[in-house]
Amino acid sequence: MAKDEHAPRLEQTSTPAPAEPGWRAPQTLLQHHPYTPPGGFASAQLPTYRASTVLFDNVQQLRSRRWRDKSGYTYGLHGTPASFALERRLADLEGARHALLCPSGLSAIALLDLALLRQGDELLVPCNAYAPGRDFAQAMLSRLGIRTRIYDPLQPAAVSALIGEHTRLMWLESPGSVSMEVPDLRELVARARAAGVLTAIDNTWSAGLALQPFELGIDLSMQALTKYQSGGADVLMGAVLTRDDALHEALLDAHMRLGLGVGGDDVALVLRGLSSLPLRYAAHDASAREVARWLQQRPEVARVVHPALPGSPGHEFWKRDFRGAAGLFSIVFRDDIPPPRIDAFVDALSLFGIGYSWGGPQSLAVPYDLGSTRATPEPVAGSDAGPAAAPGYIVRLNIGLERPEDLIADLQQALRACL
Ligand SMILES: *Cc1c(COP(=O)(O)O)cnc(C)c1O
Repeated sequence: MAKDEHAPRLEQTSTPAPAEPGWRAPQTLLQHHPYTPPGGFASAQLPTYRASTVLFDNVQQLRSRRWRDKSGYTYGLHGTPASFALERRLADLEGARHALLCPSGLSAIALLDLALLRQGDELLVPCNAYAPGRDFAQAMLSRLGIRTRIYDPLQPAAVSALIGEHTRLMWLESPGSVSMEVPDLRELVARARAAGVLTAIDNTWSAGLALQPFELGIDLSMQALTKYQSGGADVLMGAVLTRDDALHEALLDAHMRLGLGVGGDDVALVLRGLSSLPLRYAAHDASAREVARWLQQRPEVARVVHPALPGSPGHEFWKRDFRGAAGLFSIVFRDDIPPPRIDAFVDALSLFGIGYSWGGPQSLAVPYDLGSTRATPEPVAGSDAGPAAAPGYIVRLNIGLERPEDLIADLQQALRACL
């Protein structure tokens, strides 16, 4: 292709230098522009801070500033004013002393494991835990010589049989992913503490509002901020929180070494979402209970697994420990309904999107075969064998911010058409 004679060339903009003092070539001027906007600007929300490089006033400041205590800024990976503010707000919400942001909920799980476990350690993971977190332990921690043991959270007495001298960490989750059983957290924590085992909870369902894990004596809390804190279904982020300074220091080291930074725009999105978190959570909760109660009356439905509904597994523990419920619950259909008809029911919904994640404004539905999402607990003498509860085919609903009557009408037409 012929060269375009009229295209500007770099030399033309850099030479010749005019005689005027202070003149700068555009490509230099635009990196070192002398204008400083007036101070005194205050906005209702924190500004978005985007940074890889953080600038220092001089070399002495560069050498003396420490990233660990968050009293100053050193590099984008270690935080900005907005990421520090988000961490503080999250910590205060859950009554923690420290919070660390990660690029996703799953990376927050991985950070916690990698920071606190070493070769020869064992960790306990509930059979109904968020499956990718369990997979991280079984597929990757195993390579480091860390053994994962699967326990049934609905049989706390059996857990003690799995705790040995190498057990370092017990993961908790309430309710369990997809199958939604609420365990007796107090009993599980008491057994772990008695054996000197650390406890960490995936507290995503409560959004840090409905359950206060540190009040129950749990050592670490993990959040997928991707869900309610963001609230928009448009950003991924996670957090690990603790009250314990030494645990935080270990997390901080691993966080730095793994390079788990978060982007400034994503921080701004989560901060914006956080402002309306309590109101959104209450709205999702109210709608979900209304939809769940309607589904309970349907002849096609064998069981609605919603922690706030009497009869749901562990409802009494939800009532004791929780102050609210998320908009996420599951339906078990009558077992004479074949799975392809259940899939057709999900396809026939028009207000429910088909997709992963939850906590966003739009309702979602996902059919799951519980056998493929849940692990089998290690057999323990004297306890019932097999998975905790509600086996089989399940549809998980994320109730969004639509009018609940409209969601019910949509469920009704899909049930009529398919089941
Ligand atoms: C979504 C989710 C995670 C993972 O969060 P991501 O940001 O999607 O990686 C972890 N635990 C629970 C309970 C979740 O629902």
